[in-house]
Amino acid sequence: MPEGSTSRRSIVRTVDAVVVGAGFGGLYMLHRLRDLGLSVQGIEAGEGVGGTWYWNRYPGARCDLPSLAYSYNFSEDLRREWRWSERYSPQSEILRYADHVADRFDLKPLIAFGARVTHAAFDDDAGVWTLETDRGDRIVARWCVMATGCLSIPQKPTLPGEETFKGTIYHTAAWPHEQVELGGLSVGVIGTGSSGIQSIPVIAEAARRVTVFQRTPNFSVPSRNGPLSDAEIAEFRAAYPEYLETLRNSPGLVGAAEGAPIPSEAEQQQAYERLWGAGGPSLIAAFPNLFTSVEVNDGASEFVRRKIAEVVDDPAVAAVLQPHDHPIGTKRICVDSDYYQTYNRPNVELVDLRRTPIEAITPTGLRTTEREYSLDVLVFATGFDAISGALLAIDIRGSGGARLKDAWANGPLAYLGMTVAGFPNLFTITGPGSPSVLSNMIPAIEQHVDWIADCIGYMREKGYRRIAGEPSAQAAWMAHVQAVADSSLFPRANSWYVGANIPGKPRLFTTYIGAGYRAKCDEVAARGYEGFVLA
Ligand code: NAP
Repeated sequence: MPEGSTSRRSIVRTVDAVVVGAGFGGLYMLHRLRDLGLSVQGIEAGEGVGGTWYWNRYPGARCDLPSLAYSYNFSEDLRREWRWSERYSPQSEILRYADHVADRFDLKPLIAFGARVTHAAFDDDAGVWTLETDRGDRIVARWCVMATGCLSIPQKPTLPGEETFKGTIYHTAAWPHEQVELGGLSVGVIGTGSSGIQSIPVIAEAARRVTVFQRTPNFSVPSRNGPLSDAEIAEFRAAYPEYLETLRNSPGLVGAAEGAPIPSEAEQQQAYERLWGAGGPSLIAAFPNLFTSVEVNDGASEFVRRKIAEVVDDPAVAAVLQPHDHPIGTKRICVDSDYYQTYNRPNVELVDLRRTPIEAITPTGLRTTEREYSLDVLVFATGFDAISGALLAIDIRGSGGARLKDAWANGPLAYLGMTVAGFPNLFTITGPGSPSVLSNMIPAIEQHVDWIADCIGYMREKGYRRIAGEPSAQAAWMAHVQAVADSSLFPRANSWYVGANIPGKPRLFTTYIGAGYRAKCDEVAARGYEGFVLA
């Protein structure tokens, strides 16, 4: 197979590096590795680039961080030529951006689309990885980079009777590519995380009736989305150097909390009002100790609960929508467009599954312990097997045939979130133990890709052929990740951050929320890859 051709048939190739996934991580990784002069092969399960933005096409899907910041920084030309149309861009526009990047840097010819990696095994003698896909591809490569994403394996509960349902079932994370017509239909939505909260208002505008089946309410803040003005773009560009500096020296979500004073009640109210009015997730960044101080967090949580009561007309419905089971922000904050207002519509009903749990799906709808709801369409907005899910979905075998499944039996372990002890020459972009999902993903991806590319470049320059993380360095790093998490309020929530949404998944908080992450990665590299064995 010649370099640079995209195959629809299975391929058998030996290359320097293989990159699994063509989302934002995979695309930039391919670009960097090819620039280093490596032969590369990308493999992507979807029929196009974009990763999570390729699959999550549900109505209302959009960025929950400002698009100006949710963008690549590696190319100044790219930054200048791309113009986002809205503050929080819709999924279709983000997908167009990913597609534009792939075309602009001529990356698509490097990728085999429609191929899902099923096996990856390291050969100790040859020092290479062999990857196999579900359509018979076989790629052999010295370097293997998993750019498989933190939220790419949809989670769907098994409910009794689902096979009898005569209507249509969708999952937000596997939404059809063609237009889904909901006009005149009765739609049920299970799940009120970010995907449910973004989709429910849009579904409610189209459908005849919407029944929302909520088990646990989440905190949501208004996005105040709208067209992005030239003035906003100019403002962002003017402050760009400081923005990059903040990325480089981020204190993490809890890093800045130490010694921070408890803001007065008046200061808190003023800040929350202003940030609620401005819109977006910055409300939970109002004070550095919001994630460490119960007192400060209670203030913010209570503020949002009060707003819910103000927005929702029916006090009984408002009460069901008010979260009380976790400190605000310790489950991913949702950013919405008229979510709470949607419950004032006459065609929307909220069902409290805590009071009346689901009993079964029936041929014509869904039955709770209280009654049956007649439905034409049922939408599962039930989330993902996050962080480790996509890696564990592949049968990965490292040195001596060790299985990743066994290595991670008690929860995922990785050194700096990028390598796993016992799995030489394997890199994980935004893997467990890195800031990943609790930072802005695109800059986090860029930092990992740059580190990995620099590492591979260094290895080649020095004539090394194998890099493996030392178990002791990995254990020390993960203990630090855990200690930082334990100093925060995060472990108090039954969130997907700790794997609580997946039955049987070990409960472990594996996202790094402390200070100095980038400096630590740079220091490790500058010391000749301290904590790694190079051979
Ligand atoms: P999620 O946050 O995990 O929410 C899943 C929802 O489904 C929860 O409300 C959960 O209730 C409910 N659920 C699961 N199983 C259920 C069952 N058997 N019966 C009833 N309810 C059930 O998933 P998500 O909304 O897809 O969001 C996941 C993450 O993806 C977000 O936190 C965010 O990081 C990312 N995301 C980002 C964007 C964006 O950038 N715009 C958009 C969407 C998603 P319980 O809480 O009771 O388990």
